[in-house]
Amino acid sequence: MFTAEEIQHLEALDLQQSLFKLCEIIPDGIIFSTSLGQEDQIITDVIFKNKLPVKVFTLDTGRLFYEHYDLLSNNNSKYKIKTEVYFPEATDVENYVNEKGINGFFHSVENRKECCYIRKVKPLNRALEGAKVWITGLRSEQSENRQTLKMLDWDESRQLYKFNPLLHWNYDAVLKYIEDHQIMDLPLHKKGFVSVGCKPCTRAIEPGENPRAGRWWWEESQKECGLHSEK
Ligand code: SF4
Repeated sequence: MFTAEEIQHLEALDLQQSLFKLCEIIPDGIIFSTSLGQEDQIITDVIFKNKLPVKVFTLDTGRLFYEHYDLLSNNNSKYKIKTEVYFPEATDVENYVNEKGINGFFHSVENRKECCYIRKVKPLNRALEGAKVWITGLRSEQSENRQTLKMLDWDESRQLYKFNPLLHWNYDAVLKYIEDHQIMDLPLHKKGFVSVGCKPCTRAIEPGENPRAGRWWWEESQKECGLHSEK
């Protein structure tokens, strides 16, 4: 779908230019998943301000922070464009909770991964159906698993391209962009939460800790929920 020249060109452009160029190459079938984190708020701002032809959606797991809902509502008011919301299947959640308990994800890594699968991965797969390019806010410094990613990566399992325009940004660049462009973000970031997921599974981190250390902090796992099957 992309020529070598187009890939090289995309990788050389700044954030806004690269998203414009991407939409020029693929006029329909581009989708962006936002977790409402800082990186995703930056990308949302570029897409919505420029009315780019990109479907923007988020996953409501049912266990998010109250602040997520406030930010989602404020985004809708600010940009006058609604972010689509995908929910898990009710019967999946009911069966899980009735079998494993309301907080069953604390009991084992398998339980936790099953909860992430039901509440995140399955709705994500539904949202991505038919998409050609999936834009993400992934950055390589966020975790070891993300260091081998490319800016434009073929996702074999989902049969689509992933475009990661912030891949080489460091966290200081994210904070500077947010300040310079007056981007709204979660108030939790100022309280030590860097990577913010579901409320029961996220804690604040200490300065110098790995940004993903606050996710599933009770586990020694890879700190991933299966949304991004990094190589
Ligand atoms: S982050 Fe926690 S509550 Fe959210 S889907 Fe995963 S295990 Fe379930």
